[in-house]
Amino acid sequence: MFFFDPVYLLFALPALLLGLYAQIKVQSAMSHYSRVAANTTGAEAARALLEANGLYDVQLEESRGFLSDHYDPTKRVLRLSPQVARGRSVAAVGVAAHEAAHALQHATGYWPLQIRTGLVPVVQFGSWLGPIIFLLGWLVSGISPELGTSLALLGVLSFAAVALFAIVTLPVELNASRRAKAMLQRYFVMDQQGMVGVNQVLDAAALTYVAAAVQAISTLLYYVFLLSGFSRRRD
Ligand SMILES: [Zn+2]
Repeated sequence: MFFFDPVYLLFALPALLLGLYAQIKVQSAMSHYSRVAANTTGAEAARALLEANGLYDVQLEESRGFLSDHYDPTKRVLRLSPQVARGRSVAAVGVAAHEAAHALQHATGYWPLQIRTGLVPVVQFGSWLGPIIFLLGWLVSGISPELGTSLALLGVLSFAAVALFAIVTLPVELNASRRAKAMLQRYFVMDQQGMVGVNQVLDAAALTYVAAAVQAISTLLYYVFLLSGFSRRRD
């Protein structure tokens, strides 16, 4: 039931297709606008936007890997991938501005970001512990239906936490992109022509977060569906 379930495919397929589509959009927007020149590198743009907002104490570091760019609210460090940090392109500046916007969200106490940060430890455990607890519940239900169902319910709850995390991520990401676009124009970091590219890159990236949320919700629904099978088995 866990290793190959055709029903799982039914639940997972829409999210899988959307995720694939979003990945293609991001890759093509990134590769295209990485070749369109900008006036600054990603690192320079991020530094300028942070300082324009008085965030002199946010550290800028280089991370490893393609699209590994992120803001770490626990350490107040903005990490940019080499392509973004050193890239003097519309794509690099767009991504860097988006990450700088996360630092700004943090500084202004933007509450969806606070919820998201609070959920990180829950999700780190939930995403790998959830299936194990659920499987354990399924095995135990043959001996003790009550205990089995309780364990499975616990597994489902951890999937619910993962789904909640993915849902809370949406306003955080959309708001960061909105702030990034506004800042790039307000501080004249990017001209109108460049903004067309920034919009394409950030909107494609937003779609990947929508896909991730749909995927997390689909997974939750699948396990709720399996759990309803538990009750039938008990009756
Ligand atoms: Zn982001």
